[in-house]
Amino acid sequence: MTAGARPWVVLKFGGTSVSRRNRWDTIGRLAAKRMADEDVRVLVVVSALSGVTNELQAISQGDAVDARIGALVDRHRAFCAELDLDPETVLGQRLGALQSLGTDPRAQSRPLDWQAEVLAQGELLSSTLGAAYLRTQGLDFGWCDARQWLDAVSLPNASDWAQRLAVNCRHESSAEFLERFGTQAAPMLLTQGFIARHGDGGTAILGRGGSDTSAAYFGALLKARRVEIWTDVPGMFTANPREVPDARLLTRLDYAEAQEIATTGAKVLHPRSIAPCRDAGVPMAILDTERFDLPGTRIDASATTVAGVKAISRRNGIVLVSMESIGMWQQVGFLADVFERFKRHGLSVDLIGSSETNVTVSLDPSENLVTTNVLEALSADLSQVCRVKVIAPCAAITLVGRGMRSLLHKLSDIWATFGRERVHLISQSSNDLNLTFVIDEADADGMLPQLHAELVRGGAMPVLDASVFGPSWREIAHGKLARPAPWWAGARPALLDAARTGTPRYVYDLATMRERARALRSVEAISHCFYAMKANPHPELLRALVQEGFGLECVSQAELDHVFAHVPSLLPQRVLFTPSFAPRREYEAAFARGVTVTIDSVEALQKWPEVFRGQRVWLRLDLGHGEGHHEKVRTGGVAAKFGLPVARFDAFLALARTLDLRITGLHAHLGSGIDNPRHWREVYAQLAGLADNVGTVETIDIGGGLPIPYTPDAQDFDLALWRDGLEEIKAAYPRYGLVVEPGRYLVAECGVLLLGVTQVIEKDGVRRVGADAGMNALMRPAMYEAWHGIHNLSRLDEANDTAFDVVGPICESGDVLGRNRLLPGATAEGDVLLVADAGAYGMAMANTYNLRALPQQDIIGP
Ligand SMILES: *Cc1c(COP(=O)(O)O)cnc(C)c1O
Repeated sequence: MTAGARPWVVLKFGGTSVSRRNRWDTIGRLAAKRMADEDVRVLVVVSALSGVTNELQAISQGDAVDARIGALVDRHRAFCAELDLDPETVLGQRLGALQSLGTDPRAQSRPLDWQAEVLAQGELLSSTLGAAYLRTQGLDFGWCDARQWLDAVSLPNASDWAQRLAVNCRHESSAEFLERFGTQAAPMLLTQGFIARHGDGGTAILGRGGSDTSAAYFGALLKARRVEIWTDVPGMFTANPREVPDARLLTRLDYAEAQEIATTGAKVLHPRSIAPCRDAGVPMAILDTERFDLPGTRIDASATTVAGVKAISRRNGIVLVSMESIGMWQQVGFLADVFERFKRHGLSVDLIGSSETNVTVSLDPSENLVTTNVLEALSADLSQVCRVKVIAPCAAITLVGRGMRSLLHKLSDIWATFGRERVHLISQSSNDLNLTFVIDEADADGMLPQLHAELVRGGAMPVLDASVFGPSWREIAHGKLARPAPWWAGARPALLDAARTGTPRYVYDLATMRERARALRSVEAISHCFYAMKANPHPELLRALVQEGFGLECVSQAELDHVFAHVPSLLPQRVLFTPSFAPRREYEAAFARGVTVTIDSVEALQKWPEVFRGQRVWLRLDLGHGEGHHEKVRTGGVAAKFGLPVARFDAFLALARTLDLRITGLHAHLGSGIDNPRHWREVYAQLAGLADNVGTVETIDIGGGLPIPYTPDAQDFDLALWRDGLEEIKAAYPRYGLVVEPGRYLVAECGVLLLGVTQVIEKDGVRRVGADAGMNALMRPAMYEAWHGIHNLSRLDEANDTAFDVVGPICESGDVLGRNRLLPGATAEGDVLLVADAGAYGMAMANTYNLRALPQQDIIGP
C-alpha cells in the first residue's frame, strides 16, 4: 500500500496532555504504536497549553494586553527549555507574531477577525513546539496548519460573532481532500484543534469544545478508522464519578446515546463533536492518558443496542418559565405567540411540558445567557399574552438510555424517590432516549448516589451486562477488593450429596453465621444485640446465636412460643416482643412471660388500658421516613403501618402517665437492606433527643436493616464506618444502652437453596431452565425483584456462557428466580442449581402454593 492510501487514525490531546514533557513522550509513544500496530497514518490534534486559551481570551477583550502577552512569551520559552529546544529557533517567529498582535492597530477596536487571530495563537504555539520536540525524539512528524484544511461554513441566522468565533466546518469527505491531505510526506502529522479558515481567508474559531470538534471534523473528512479523544479521565460514566463513586465506566455506546449523555452532563466529550463522526460512520473512543489498560468508552453504530438506562446526570441553574394562558381554552396560536418571544430574547428552550392552559419550559444556562435582565425583559414581554411565573434555581435530573418507555416498570423506586420531592416538570423526549425531572436545586443535593443505586437495584440500569458496563470509579481509583470465595464453593461435594437426598433443600453453614455474629458483638458501643428471628427461625440457628450472646426479637406469640420451646434456658429479659397490629391477647401473653414488649400506638393504650397499666414498655416510633432496598421493606414514613408518628409522641406520654406506664426504651426500625452506614447513627441521635424529654428511658433500639451484597457489583457493607458512627453518637449520648436487632445480616449469606433442574426449554428465543421449586421456596425475587446469584453446582467448572431465565414450577408468570443468567450451555435435567444468599427470608417465607411441598433443611458446620 502506498502511504497515501493508508487509512488514518486521529488522536486528540487536550491542554493538560501537552503541558509537560512526559506527556509529549506519551503522545509520541501512542502515535508510533498506532502506526506500527495498525499500519495506519496518524494525525494528532492538540489544544493549547493549559490555561493559555483563557489568557488569550482576556487579551482579546483588551484586558492587560502587554502584561499577558509578556507572560505567555515567558511561559512558552520556559517550556521550550524543559523540552531541550532552543526557543529562538523553534518559536521565535510565532512569539513574534503574538507580540505584533498586541501592537496591531486593531488591538484598539478589537474587531472579531483580530480576536480570532489572538485566540488561535495558543494552538499554533503548542503544535509547533510539540512537532519540534517529537522530531528530536526520532519520530517522523510533520506539522500542518489546520486552517488550510478546515473551512468554516456560514449558517443562516448566525450572528457575526458566531460566524467568526463559534463556527461549524464542512466535513463531507471527498476523494480530492483525501488525496491532497495524503500528499503530505511525513507518516505522522501534528495539527491544531480549535481553529479553522474563515470564508474571507482569515482565521475562525470553533468555540467551546473546539479541539474535540476539530478532531471529529478531521476524522470525518479523512474517513478515519477511528477518532481517539485522549483525556485524563477513563471515559464516560453512568454518573459523575465525583458525585457517585459507584458510577460505572460505559465501555460502549451508540452515537445517539453518547450525544445525549454529552449534552446532559458528562464533560469529557463536547456534544458538538459527535455528529461529524456519526454522519461519516467513524467510530470514536475516549481514552485515558494515565490508564492505558482501561477499555475507555467506544462510540459507534453498534449493531446490538442494549436496552436500559446508561447514565444519570444533573444540571444546575435551570430556569423554569411557567405560562398560564389568559386567553381562550386551547386558543389557536398561543404557543406561536409564546415561543416567538423567546426567540426575540435569543433564548433557546430545552424542555417543555404543556396542558390545555399552561405551558412550562426550561432554559439551560449552558445554552443561554440567562441573566436577571433578560428574564425580566422576557417576563414583561410574555405578560402581554399570558400570566408568567419564573421558578429558579432548579436542577434537571436526566436519565439517558435506550427504550426509556419500556423501562417504566423498573423505575418504580425512582418515581417513588421523586415523589417525595416537589417535581416541577417531567419530560420524556420524543426520541425515547431521555427522561428528565426538574426539581428545586436545593432538593437535588445528594440525590444522585441514591438514584443511581436505585437504577441498579431495580434493574433499569443493567450493570451486569459486561458489553456496556465497565468497572466502577471506586474500583478504578482504589483497586477492586476481591470478595473471598463463598463458603459453599468449598463445600460442593457435601452439598451435592445433600441434594441427592432430595431437592428443594436449604442448607445453612453455622460457621458463616457465627462469623457475622461475632463481628457485630465486637462493636463496643452496642449494649445488646437481638436477632430478628423472623429472618430464619431454624432452632439450631437460634441456639447458636444465643450461644454467641444474642437475645432474640419476636414479632408474634407463635415466635415467642417457638423460642421458649427450643431455647428453654433463655431468660425472658433477653427476648423482645415487637408485634404489628397483634391482637390484645398476644400482648397479655408477652407480659405474662416477662419479655420486653414494644408498642407503637396511642390507640392500644386507649382501648386496652388495663393491659398496660403499671407496666414497663418500649415505644416504637416512626421517624417520618423509610429506608431500604425496596418499597415493600420500608417500615417508616406515612405509607408504612409501623410506629407512632413523632407528632403524637406527647399525647402518648400524657396517656402513659395516667396509666403509670413506664417507657424504658425507644425503638425505631425504618427498613431493611439500608446501604448507608450512617443511617443508624442518625436514628440513635433522633431517638436520644426524644428520650431526653421522657426521663425514664434506659435503652435506645435502632433496629436492624443491615444489608448484604447480593449482586456481584454491590459494595460490601462498611461495618467499620457503621461502628465508627455508633461509637461517635454513643459518646455524645452516653446515658442510654444501645440495642440493635439485625436479621438478614446474620443469616442471609449462611444459607443456600439447592434445586433440581426439571426441564430446559427454548421459546421464541428465550432459553429457560426450570427448577423443582421457585417462588414457593424463595419468594424474594417475585416479591421484591430481589437478585440472588444462581449457579449450576453440578457444572461449576464449565464456562457460564449461555443466558437463561431460571424459573420455578408454580403456575404464576412471576415465578422467575432470575432473568438473563449466565449458566453453562450444557445445563440439563438433573443438574443441581444453587441459589446463593438465601438464608434470610427464604425458608421463613416459603409456602405450599400449588400444594408443592416445603423445602427440606440441613445444617452444616459446628
Ligand atoms: C424484620 C425486623 C428486623 C430485622 O430486619 P433485617 O433487615 O432483617 O435486619 C428488625 N426489627 C424489626 C422490628 C423487624 O420487624
